[in-house]
Amino acid sequence: MLKDQDRIFTNLYGMHDRTLKGAKARGHWDGTAKILQNGRDWIIEQMKASGLRGRGGAGFPTGLKWSFMPKESDGRPAYLVVNADESEPGTCKDREIMRHDPHTLIEGCLIASFAMNAHACFIYIRGEYIREREALQAAIDEAYEAGLIGKNACKSGWDFDLYLHHGAGAYICGEETALLESLEGKKGMPRMKPPFPAMAGVYGCPTTVNNVESIAVVPTILRRGPEWFASFGRPNNTGTKIFGISGHVNNPCVVEEAMSISFEELIDKHCGGIRGGWDNLKAVIPGGSSVPCVRGENMRDAVMDFDALRDVGSSLGTAAIIVMDKDTDIIKAIWRLSKFYKHESCGQCTPCREGTGWMMRVMDRLVRGEAEVEEIDMLFDVTKQVEGHTICALGDASAWPIQGLIRNFRDEIEDRIKAQKTGRVSAVAAE
Ligand code: NAD
Ligand code: SF4
Repeated sequence: MLKDQDRIFTNLYGMHDRTLKGAKARGHWDGTAKILQNGRDWIIEQMKASGLRGRGGAGFPTGLKWSFMPKESDGRPAYLVVNADESEPGTCKDREIMRHDPHTLIEGCLIASFAMNAHACFIYIRGEYIREREALQAAIDEAYEAGLIGKNACKSGWDFDLYLHHGAGAYICGEETALLESLEGKKGMPRMKPPFPAMAGVYGCPTTVNNVESIAVVPTILRRGPEWFASFGRPNNTGTKIFGISGHVNNPCVVEEAMSISFEELIDKHCGGIRGGWDNLKAVIPGGSSVPCVRGENMRDAVMDFDALRDVGSSLGTAAIIVMDKDTDIIKAIWRLSKFYKHESCGQCTPCREGTGWMMRVMDRLVRGEAEVEEIDMLFDVTKQVEGHTICALGDASAWPIQGLIRNFRDEIEDRIKAQKTGRVSAVAAE
């Protein structure tokens, strides 16, 4: 188990003073100008050496992403955009950082922006995060007042401005290019990639979009060294990681742990075990609603990292772990996600716009047991036609939970259809 002194987000563990004074007492903003003096290439090399992979869900290597930004200005300004539009069902880790540890994020914004030659950074925060944006704005104001950001930030000679931008409640605005459109004042609709944001991002300028957690760990990595960070987890899956555990555990929580911890250890040490004991575990969604569910018996020994979760047919995603015990109607739980994706589709590409509605309607009948058994394969086939055929990852995200359901709980779907036909159960009404 990770020791307290190796936790980056100490505020998660009872040190609740989120003011500048409290942040400084925990070592933040210590020698920031000296870090900048090491230069851009040094910072990017350190980030590469740490092995940090993006914490927003996709796990793209952070140092590599930074290195895509133009080394010299071609006349266009460069920007850092922090994606704080945390909306993935089950996910509430960035919320904790912004609520309790805002200065770590702000310091990370300064260092990362400097490394990418950006004098300005936008934090795009989810509209519903009202308390978090108040905490973050108060910390930004404190940092300006103390000369840590703004003109000659930290007396480093580097001018740096930080803007907090509020979203308005659309899930799709968490997709990086939809976020950029929204930031520019347009309707939040994803752009085709390539070009990736490093080539043409906000206002057509070189931009890097990073998740809150990815940026908030930067100052500690540079202070303690990339080897320290890489000593947690395993190769290609390094560092500490914030996990958010919800559902049928005795003590749902958000906790920072070493990457690659086993699922069993995570749940027993931090959540007081599964409600009703391990034999009562039915299914787990290990990485937020966009990843497939896994049968409980296959999850117990699973290793919680990007690569290992592929072995059980899922992925780490946002590390939002949704635990379901044997009281759960798993078909209905996945139907609920289908309804969510249908609602949140921006509608600009046909497979997603039509497919999410189609899948939700079949799922609705599966919940009631009113479909034919053959429709299970037909539904799976539709998910395959949506997956990989859309502009953004929302299409995949709508298909994968259903694929996970059919792969893992086909027997339950068939039983419900058969029971309905023989009149053994009454219809389960979908909400
Ligand atoms: P992606 O794999 O397309 O991209 C990940 C990042 O890497 C992006 O910043 C992208 O620009 C960059 N990238 C990828 N290939 C690149 C290349 N060849 N050259 C340059 N840059 C490249 O994934 P995505 O669509 O950004 O994210 C999908 C993930 O988001 C899902 O896995 C899901 O877990 C997660 N998600 C998170 C939330 C949340 O609330 N945190 C919400 C919805 C989805
Ligand atoms: Fe919009 Fe869906 Fe296409 Fe993404 S996949 S661009 S959400 S229609």
